[in-house]
Amino acid sequence: MTKWVYGFGNGTADGKAEMRDLLGGKGANLAEMSSIGLPVPPGFTVTTEVCTYYYANSRAYPPELKAQVAAALADVEKIVGRKFGDPDNPLLVSVRSGARASMPGMMDTVLNLGLNDTTVLGLVRSSGDERFAYDSYRRFIQMYCNVVLEIDHHNFEEVLEQKKLDLDVHLDTDLKASDWKDVIKQYKKVIERELGKPFPQDPQEQLWGAVGAVFGSWMNQRAITYRKLHDIPESWGTAVNVQAMVFGNMGDDCATGVAFTRNPSTGENLFYGEYLVNAQGEDVVAGIRTPQQLTVQGKEAQKSDRPAMEEVMPEVYGQLAEIRSTLERHYRDMQDIEFTVQSGKLYMLQTRNGKRTAKAALKIAVDMVREGLIDRKEAVTRIAPASLDQLLHPTLDPKAQRKVLAKGLPASPGAAFGKVVFTADAAEKMARDGEKVILVRRETSPEDIHGMHAAQGILTSTGGMTSHAAVVARGMGKPCVAGAGDVRIDAKAGTLTVRGTTVKAGEAITLDGSTGEVILGIVPTIQPELSGDFAELMDWADGVRTLKVRTNAETPADAATARKFGAEGIGLCRTEHMFFEGDRIVAVRQMILSDDEKGRRAALARIAPMQRQDFVELFEIMAGLPVTIRLLDPPLHEFLPKTDAEMAQVARELGVAEKEIEARAAKLHEFNPMLGHRGVRLGISYPEIYEMQARAIFEAAVEVRKKHGKTVDAEIMIPLVATKRELDLMKEVIDQVANEVGKLNGVTLDYKVGTMIELPRAALRAGEIAESAEFFSFGTNDLTQTTFGLSRDDSASFLERYQRRGIFEHDPFATLDVEGVGELIRIAHERGRRTRKDLKLGICGEHGGDPASVFFCHQVGLDYVSCSPFRVPIARLAAAQAALGVALKTD
Ligand code: PEP
Ligand code: MG
Repeated sequence: MTKWVYGFGNGTADGKAEMRDLLGGKGANLAEMSSIGLPVPPGFTVTTEVCTYYYANSRAYPPELKAQVAAALADVEKIVGRKFGDPDNPLLVSVRSGARASMPGMMDTVLNLGLNDTTVLGLVRSSGDERFAYDSYRRFIQMYCNVVLEIDHHNFEEVLEQKKLDLDVHLDTDLKASDWKDVIKQYKKVIERELGKPFPQDPQEQLWGAVGAVFGSWMNQRAITYRKLHDIPESWGTAVNVQAMVFGNMGDDCATGVAFTRNPSTGENLFYGEYLVNAQGEDVVAGIRTPQQLTVQGKEAQKSDRPAMEEVMPEVYGQLAEIRSTLERHYRDMQDIEFTVQSGKLYMLQTRNGKRTAKAALKIAVDMVREGLIDRKEAVTRIAPASLDQLLHPTLDPKAQRKVLAKGLPASPGAAFGKVVFTADAAEKMARDGEKVILVRRETSPEDIHGMHAAQGILTSTGGMTSHAAVVARGMGKPCVAGAGDVRIDAKAGTLTVRGTTVKAGEAITLDGSTGEVILGIVPTIQPELSGDFAELMDWADGVRTLKVRTNAETPADAATARKFGAEGIGLCRTEHMFFEGDRIVAVRQMILSDDEKGRRAALARIAPMQRQDFVELFEIMAGLPVTIRLLDPPLHEFLPKTDAEMAQVARELGVAEKEIEARAAKLHEFNPMLGHRGVRLGISYPEIYEMQARAIFEAAVEVRKKHGKTVDAEIMIPLVATKRELDLMKEVIDQVANEVGKLNGVTLDYKVGTMIELPRAALRAGEIAESAEFFSFGTNDLTQTTFGLSRDDSASFLERYQRRGIFEHDPFATLDVEGVGELIRIAHERGRRTRKDLKLGICGEHGGDPASVFFCHQVGLDYVSCSPFRVPIARLAAAQAALGVALKTD
């Protein structure tokens, strides 16, 4: 016969903590606490399987359930020495839902169940407190009507308010027993009026009504929405916990409280909690009375003059402190507990792993290893990789007020405030004058770089997670909110407007790049602190991971930051980004707009020494670690001059008429620049560009080796390849330059040539391409764009709707689409390695720093991921969790 009901209490239990799926989180932990001898009021759990049965059988219960519940209830009666429905000595119970994952959207709790017009008299007698008994009864009616009978609570509040007005009192505590009796009478009238039938007096009917309401709440709209938001499958179902009532509101030797076994915001190993004398749990949560601190230390920290539980109830506090360490030793994790003290006796009502900040998670994990509670591997599984963001960037002060103006994509984490500016020049100028500024643009382009550098944060109204603003801001470690479609920018007028609210240039806004929020005014931020714990935990993570982590970096500053964060090389140096700054962009424009090879070579000659110097610095910083340099891949629209002044400048440099430049720029205009004349296509058209770059790389390598005796591991990467022939032609150019530079310097150059895989054709033809390529790096930004046929620059405007409608679970430019894009990666991996066993495989799209995508990369068998510097620690930790074979920790 199926066991549908699991009892607990009196030092034993049918269930245990591992039975969470069957008993729900609350039920499993009540059973566990009971069986390790903690004082838990006895009760029983109706399993999640009953919930499943209920919905599979038109809301009917399994036939054996009634008898099993009756038997379990009889056991509870025996333990507490009271009977359910007994007029003299009634057993009262609480009924609570309890799913596998905590679900605040569901029915919560009914307390004092079992009270009726007769048993309330029994409670008067057994408690010796008439006021308490009638107060309990009216609370029960209110809760039961609200959650089971679904009568709106304002009906009852009205009655109570009127009563207080009549009596001319303000507080519930001012009502006497006779007043409560009166209130109850009127409550009953409300029920008759609303339901056309009386309040159920039969305790059995009450019990089954509450059980049915819990199961029914599994399918209420709030619960459905909550499940959707938190990826909780409908098939899980909820359990129901029925438990003997204990009262924290029966006098001054009673209390109720909640606590964390360690501080959940700092992680400090200090007991942290609150309690209220003579109160029920709901009073603590409802905030009607201000709770007091559990410990003297807590009281002093809060500068409170109200006594701590440690002082008021030293003996009970002593037991609680003992239980705190028992629970931590048992669960080997920080616990979040609820307790009640009835007439000086302590009862545990709940325990669960406590929610905590990233800072606390880190400290607790490292401390617990030192305390011998967990080992290092376990510690590595305890921290959500994505949460490390909180530790690496400034965050908004959680205590501060915020008025959210608009929401965009959380494109680059961290928080910042500053005065709004609409041009990069204004940003630079104001920053020079010591002002903090936020650069606001429809979208950014290479000529905004100096403004992005100068700004505290960047806001754009268009563009997605891989837009120029997003990618560059992440590289710089600056907060960025991208694609905030509700923000209307009028740069000429110097205003931004969001649904009627206008912010003028010079007025302040705050960005939270971790949530995508744009906030009016200044919200103070908190600076991150990287403690020794952080480095220690990252060391442990490195000890278990097999996937290497490199960085996407092109500036010495970014490369150095990435090294500090543990990058094991550069996986993508976007050489076109090296041309964004200063005069370089002018030379690049000159090159692009030259109409013959001679003109291009002249421009390239200007760029070459700067390129060489760049590579020297990168090679030095990376000190022998691999450096993957991608040859030029400029989507042309990012580089063409736009303003008249820019046109004029290029015309001057090239010595031709401005009109001529305009005409050439117009000729180069593309409708789909992302699918246009970029990547290797540019190399095929103008091989002199790649030739110059290869020369700069090899000369830099020779210089670093000669001057500093340092080794250089250069990998030269060709972008946007679709065919083997494209790669072969470029490889010829590179090999020839290597020969020349080698001969000239009397050395043999050691380097690899490989390709990005960022087009579906390249993935499919990987077997053939691997004949020429020594490595592949998956450019999943373009691969996502081209697999979905979805523009990485323009899709932000409708992607959110796609997510809301459940078409996409995540933004595919942020989290890898493992089914589609992932299949192309698998195919390329398999076909590439079949041709070349030691083919090196990595990923350098933005997904390389996304924990779920890192998991996929580990599982598929890539050698490394590469991501922006500030995401390196996140990728290291995600790679470690993947290697340990545990599920990715996400909260
Ligand atoms: C990519 O496409 O994934 C990539 C890394 O290249 P980029 O973003 O520069 O196009
Ligand atoms: Mg690309």
